[in-house]
Amino acid sequence: PNFEQVSVRSLLARVVNLMKNDYRHTPMVIECQVQPDELEVHADPELIEMVLINLTKNAAEAMLQDSHPLIQLKAFPDAHNRIVVEVCDNGPGIVPEALDKIFIPFYTTKKTGSGIGLSWSRQIMNLHKGTLNVKSKPGQTVFTMRF
Ligand code: ADP
Ligand code: MG
Repeated sequence: PNFEQVSVRSLLARVVNLMKNDYRHTPMVIECQVQPDELEVHADPELIEMVLINLTKNAAEAMLQDSHPLIQLKAFPDAHNRIVVEVCDNGPGIVPEALDKIFIPFYTTKKTGSGIGLSWSRQIMNLHKGTLNVKSKPGQTVFTMRF
Protein backbone atom coordinates (compact mmCIF):
# COMPACT_ATOMS: atom_id res chain seq x y z
CA PRO A 1 0.00 0.00 0.00
CA ASN A 2 0.92 3.62 -0.63
CA PHE A 3 0.35 5.51 2.63
CA GLU A 4 0.19 9.30 2.60
CA GLN A 5 -1.63 12.14 4.35
CA VAL A 6 -4.92 12.54 2.53
CA SER A 7 -7.70 15.06 2.82
CA VAL A 8 -10.92 13.33 3.93
CA ARG A 9 -12.98 16.05 2.27
CA SER A 10 -11.40 15.42 -1.16
CA LEU A 11 -11.67 11.61 -0.80
CA LEU A 12 -15.37 11.81 0.04
CA ALA A 13 -16.05 14.47 -2.59
CA ARG A 14 -14.59 12.23 -5.32
CA VAL A 15 -16.75 9.29 -4.28
CA VAL A 16 -19.88 11.45 -4.01
CA ASN A 17 -19.28 12.81 -7.53
CA LEU A 18 -18.71 9.33 -8.98
CA MET A 19 -21.85 7.96 -7.35
CA LYS A 20 -23.99 10.99 -8.23
CA ASN A 21 -23.01 10.42 -11.83
CA ASP A 22 -23.74 6.67 -11.73
CA TYR A 23 -27.18 7.26 -10.20
CA ARG A 24 -28.09 10.46 -12.08
CA HIS A 25 -31.15 8.82 -13.68
CA THR A 26 -32.55 7.73 -10.28
CA PRO A 27 -34.02 9.62 -7.30
CA MET A 28 -30.88 8.82 -5.23
CA VAL A 29 -29.77 11.72 -3.02
CA ILE A 30 -26.13 11.64 -1.86
CA GLU A 31 -24.87 14.04 0.80
CA CYS A 32 -21.47 14.64 2.36
CA GLN A 33 -20.52 16.27 5.70
CA VAL A 34 -16.90 16.62 6.84
CA GLN A 35 -16.37 18.30 10.21
CA PRO A 36 -13.85 19.91 10.58
CA ASP A 37 -13.24 20.61 6.92
CA GLU A 38 -9.46 20.04 7.02
CA LEU A 39 -9.64 16.48 8.46
CA GLU A 40 -6.81 14.22 7.20
CA VAL A 41 -6.03 10.48 7.43
CA HIS A 42 -2.79 8.56 6.93
CA ALA A 43 -3.98 6.12 4.29
CA ASP A 44 -3.69 4.70 0.80
CA PRO A 45 -6.16 6.94 -1.04
CA GLU A 46 -6.85 4.42 -3.82
CA LEU A 47 -7.68 1.60 -1.41
CA ILE A 48 -9.83 3.82 0.81
CA GLU A 49 -11.65 5.17 -2.23
CA MET A 50 -12.49 1.58 -3.21
CA VAL A 51 -13.84 0.86 0.30
CA LEU A 52 -15.99 3.99 0.14
CA ILE A 53 -17.27 3.05 -3.32
CA ASN A 54 -18.10 -0.47 -2.08
CA LEU A 55 -20.06 0.81 0.91
CA THR A 56 -21.84 3.51 -1.09
CA LYS A 57 -22.77 1.08 -3.89
CA ASN A 58 -24.14 -1.39 -1.34
CA ALA A 59 -26.23 1.41 0.17
CA ALA A 60 -27.54 2.43 -3.25
CA GLU A 61 -28.29 -1.18 -4.25
CA ALA A 62 -30.26 -1.68 -1.02
CA MET A 63 -32.55 1.26 -1.92
CA LEU A 64 -33.25 0.69 -5.63
CA GLN A 65 -36.96 0.15 -4.89
CA ASP A 66 -37.26 3.09 -2.46
CA SER A 67 -38.94 6.34 -3.45
CA HIS A 68 -36.69 8.62 -1.33
CA PRO A 69 -33.28 6.92 -1.26
CA LEU A 70 -30.73 8.90 0.76
CA ILE A 71 -27.03 8.20 1.31
CA GLN A 72 -25.03 10.31 3.74
CA LEU A 73 -21.24 10.22 4.00
CA LYS A 74 -20.07 11.77 7.28
CA ALA A 75 -16.58 12.27 8.69
CA PHE A 76 -15.60 13.53 12.14
CA PRO A 77 -13.14 12.77 14.96
CA ASP A 78 -14.40 10.57 17.83
CA ALA A 79 -13.80 11.16 21.55
CA HIS A 80 -10.33 9.53 21.26
CA ASN A 81 -9.48 11.70 18.24
CA ARG A 82 -9.71 8.76 15.86
CA ILE A 83 -11.20 9.67 12.51
CA VAL A 84 -14.60 8.18 11.79
CA VAL A 85 -16.15 7.93 8.35
CA GLU A 86 -19.77 6.78 8.23
CA VAL A 87 -21.79 5.64 5.23
CA CYS A 88 -25.47 5.89 6.19
CA ASP A 89 -28.56 4.88 4.23
CA ASN A 90 -32.29 4.88 4.88
CA GLY A 91 -32.91 1.54 3.16
CA PRO A 92 -34.61 -1.61 4.52
CA GLY A 93 -31.69 -2.50 6.81
CA ILE A 94 -29.99 -5.83 7.52
CA VAL A 95 -31.75 -8.48 9.62
CA PRO A 96 -29.91 -9.32 12.89
CA GLU A 97 -29.28 -12.94 11.70
CA ALA A 98 -27.36 -11.61 8.68
CA LEU A 99 -25.28 -8.99 10.53
CA ASP A 100 -22.63 -11.61 11.51
CA LYS A 101 -22.47 -13.03 8.01
CA ILE A 102 -22.12 -10.02 5.73
CA PHE A 103 -18.34 -9.73 6.31
CA ILE A 104 -17.77 -13.41 5.41
CA PRO A 105 -16.34 -13.84 1.88
CA PHE A 106 -18.95 -14.77 -0.76
CA TYR A 107 -21.95 -14.06 1.47
CA THR A 108 -24.45 -12.25 -0.73
CA THR A 109 -28.23 -11.81 -0.95
CA LYS A 110 -28.03 -10.46 -4.52
CA LYS A 111 -28.80 -12.47 -7.67
CA THR A 112 -25.51 -11.51 -9.29
CA GLY A 113 -23.57 -10.43 -6.19
CA SER A 114 -20.01 -11.59 -5.54
CA GLY A 115 -20.23 -11.24 -1.77
CA ILE A 116 -16.64 -10.09 -1.69
CA GLY A 117 -17.03 -6.33 -1.15
CA LEU A 118 -17.43 -6.18 2.63
CA SER A 119 -14.89 -8.88 3.48
CA TRP A 120 -12.39 -7.10 1.28
CA SER A 121 -13.30 -3.67 2.69
CA ARG A 122 -12.73 -4.89 6.25
CA GLN A 123 -9.33 -6.28 5.25
CA ILE A 124 -8.39 -2.91 3.76
CA MET A 125 -9.36 -1.21 7.02
CA ASN A 126 -7.33 -3.79 9.01
CA LEU A 127 -4.36 -2.98 6.78
CA HIS A 128 -4.80 0.63 7.94
CA LYS A 129 -4.92 -0.51 11.61
CA GLY A 130 -8.52 0.58 11.49
CA THR A 131 -11.92 -1.09 11.78
CA LEU A 132 -15.10 -1.51 9.76
CA ASN A 133 -18.37 -2.13 11.59
CA VAL A 134 -22.10 -1.90 10.99
CA LYS A 135 -25.27 -0.98 12.85
CA SER A 136 -28.62 -1.55 11.24
CA LYS A 137 -32.34 -1.38 11.86
CA PRO A 138 -35.22 -1.05 9.41
CA GLY A 139 -34.87 2.35 7.73
CA GLN A 140 -31.31 3.02 8.90
CA THR A 141 -28.00 1.28 8.20
CA VAL A 142 -24.66 2.79 9.19
CA PHE A 143 -21.26 1.38 8.19
CA THR A 144 -18.49 2.89 10.31
CA MET A 145 -14.86 3.11 9.20
CA ARG A 146 -12.54 4.05 12.06
CA PHE A 147 -8.88 5.02 11.48
P1 ADP B 1 -22.42 -8.04 -2.58
O1 ADP B 1 -22.65 -6.56 -2.67
O2 ADP B 1 -21.73 -8.58 -3.80
O3 ADP B 1 -23.66 -8.81 -2.23
P2 ADP B 1 -20.98 -7.36 -0.15
O4 ADP B 1 -19.90 -8.08 0.59
O5 ADP B 1 -20.69 -5.99 -0.64
O6 ADP B 1 -21.37 -8.31 -1.37
O7 ADP B 1 -22.28 -7.32 0.75
C1 ADP B 1 -22.77 -8.54 1.33
C2 ADP B 1 -24.25 -8.44 1.67
O8 ADP B 1 -24.45 -7.50 2.74
C3 ADP B 1 -25.16 -7.93 0.57
O9 ADP B 1 -25.51 -8.97 -0.35
C4 ADP B 1 -26.37 -7.43 1.35
O10 ADP B 1 -27.22 -8.50 1.70
C5 ADP B 1 -25.73 -6.92 2.65
N1 ADP B 1 -25.60 -5.45 2.69
C6 ADP B 1 -24.45 -4.75 2.56
N2 ADP B 1 -24.67 -3.43 2.67
C7 ADP B 1 -25.99 -3.28 2.89
C8 ADP B 1 -26.85 -2.14 3.11
N3 ADP B 1 -26.35 -0.90 3.12
N4 ADP B 1 -28.17 -2.37 3.32
C9 ADP B 1 -28.66 -3.62 3.32
N5 ADP B 1 -27.91 -4.74 3.12
C10 ADP B 1 -26.59 -4.57 2.91
MG1 MG C 1 -21.16 -5.08 -2.51
